[in-house]
Amino acid sequence: MIIKVALRCVEPKLYTLIIGFYLVLLTFIYNIRLNYVMQTHLCNIFKHLIQYRMHKKATPSLLDWYHTHGRHELPWRNTEDPYHIYLSEVMLQQTQVKTVLERFYFPFLQRFPSLKTLGDAALDDVLKMWEGLGYYTRAKNLHKTATLVERLPSDIDALIALPGIGKNTAHAIAAFAFGQPVPVMEANVRRILCRIFALQTPAPKDLWDKAYDLLDTQNPFEHNQAMMDIGSGICLPKNPKCTLCPFASICTGKQTPQRYPLKQKKTVPIREEFIMVYRYNDRLSLTQRKGKFLHGLWGFESVDVPLCAAEYLGEVTHAYTHFKLVCKVYVYDELDKEQTHYFNLSEIRKLAISKVDEKILKLL
Ligand code: SF4
Repeated sequence: MIIKVALRCVEPKLYTLIIGFYLVLLTFIYNIRLNYVMQTHLCNIFKHLIQYRMHKKATPSLLDWYHTHGRHELPWRNTEDPYHIYLSEVMLQQTQVKTVLERFYFPFLQRFPSLKTLGDAALDDVLKMWEGLGYYTRAKNLHKTATLVERLPSDIDALIALPGIGKNTAHAIAAFAFGQPVPVMEANVRRILCRIFALQTPAPKDLWDKAYDLLDTQNPFEHNQAMMDIGSGICLPKNPKCTLCPFASICTGKQTPQRYPLKQKKTVPIREEFIMVYRYNDRLSLTQRKGKFLHGLWGFESVDVPLCAAEYLGEVTHAYTHFKLVCKVYVYDELDKEQTHYFNLSEIRKLAISKVDEKILKLL
């Protein structure tokens, strides 16, 4: 409207000139836009061609590799029970396959054969069965989830809404228990992707995009299991065995694998504690932890200052994910009972106690 009014006030020659200029400008803008759209389309076509080529090269060799070398005997690979798969995923988050397999997976399932039995159990019993695995928040979240649902949902968002289930665990359950075409993203898989695509410090979203690019959507179970096996046995952090790797023909980082991903130096803080073991008539005092750290487990008391009359027993250390705990341990023989709970050794063995308290026990 404003342009129309302005044009009415100018000479016809100028009017034609302005219209002409306006049309040239429109064509110019249209061309730029057209170029942009075409470029975007071309980029997408090019990207899909690369993906297609990678798929064509990687998928058959990955499947072949898995059929010949995969760890098919792992019990959680021979079940479709979502609870069994979920349990294995949680146990394997911070613990090696060998340890889970030899000491924890079967006894736990024997004691709590279903989500329902797990949800009906007391948290103390669950923690006792988890004893030695560490990272007890995992057990508490597992138990909490079991009190909320009797069957795990197959929907990824619904899985993530449950306590302690992150994106990777949800994808693993979805792929392994429900056959959904989604990738998994545990630490070993992350390393493989960084090396295949020569990525030093990728953002999480980029890694997920790459994982989807590479995914064999027809065989998500085999694809993801193969990725995990290659991560734990072939694409090792140091000295990867590239000559045995089914990705060798497409891996762009294999000449200098140690460069991918870039290692970030971590300094682990040290936390010091004084531990007082109160002893009365050969019975030891333990309390159930109320705070966030090791919540629910029984343990020896941490004090600000040890009693003067206490005897120094020695030092125990334990490494947690975010810090190293150094405990200076003292024992104090009481003349009268001063604490609330005392236990003899066989009673302590029935309690759920942490690794560090087990180490303290060995000093006594
Ligand atoms: S070719 Fe080598 S660096 Fe690349 S994914 Fe395989 S083992 Fe890792």
